[in-house]
Amino acid sequence: MNVQEKSIGRILLTNDDGILAPGLVAMEKIAAQLSDDVWVVAPESEQSGASHSLTLSEPIRVHKIHARKFAVRGTPTDCVMMAMMRIIDGARPDLVLSGVNRGQNMADDVTYSGTVAGAMEGTLLGLPSIALSQAFENNGEVVVPFDVAVAHGPRIVRRLLDVGWDRNVLLNVNFPDRSGVEYLELKATAQGARDEALQVVDERRDPRGDSYYWYGFKPSQSQPPVGTDLRAVQDGHISVTPLHLDLTHDASRNTLARLLETG
Ligand code: MN
Repeated sequence: MNVQEKSIGRILLTNDDGILAPGLVAMEKIAAQLSDDVWVVAPESEQSGASHSLTLSEPIRVHKIHARKFAVRGTPTDCVMMAMMRIIDGARPDLVLSGVNRGQNMADDVTYSGTVAGAMEGTLLGLPSIALSQAFENNGEVVVPFDVAVAHGPRIVRRLLDVGWDRNVLLNVNFPDRSGVEYLELKATAQGARDEALQVVDERRDPRGDSYYWYGFKPSQSQPPVGTDLRAVQDGHISVTPLHLDLTHDASRNTLARLLETG
């Protein structure tokens, strides 16, 4: 850490791409700019799409890699829970950072994302938590520009901590595919919605002639509205979306109350 910069205290890192993911290396580089007290507790294997699941029907195994780095056979939620309940000695973390995810987590992705769930669990445990994801433009060959997150991440995290946010809220940050751009604007965004079905199901055959399937994702052609996460990243900005865990839709609740509570 740069000695001129103030340490932000103890940081817990997790992700959903697993303990060996290049995005975790990127996150360790970001965290090293922020603190000398960084703990890593990440899934042993990839957990993308795990959402906010926790392991109830299998034992949870924890492997110590070194003093402050652990691999957990479980989900990102298990990682944060194990870090808090069993792994970290002494003080609670001052910050949870989840990611940096390989690929964006915006619009509907947010509900499938294990990266976002890591930050959800941190928030539920009362810790300021931020999910970080790196978007990439898929032009046939997948190159994830983690250098963007590494270059801008420390400044963004410090800025967010300076301004602060509600304790029931997690922040979902997405970096655009803009390597080498010195300054990227930060946009406070709303969770967007896809205007087309992007998911495809690819059918293949195994050597015994049986079908099997992979979910695939087509490149987006949508025109997302200004103010959404999708649009900010498409326009080359860093998107920060505040998300809350209370899933109640207040307008519908009011409508239902009016229609149903007729007494
Ligand atoms: Mn992932």
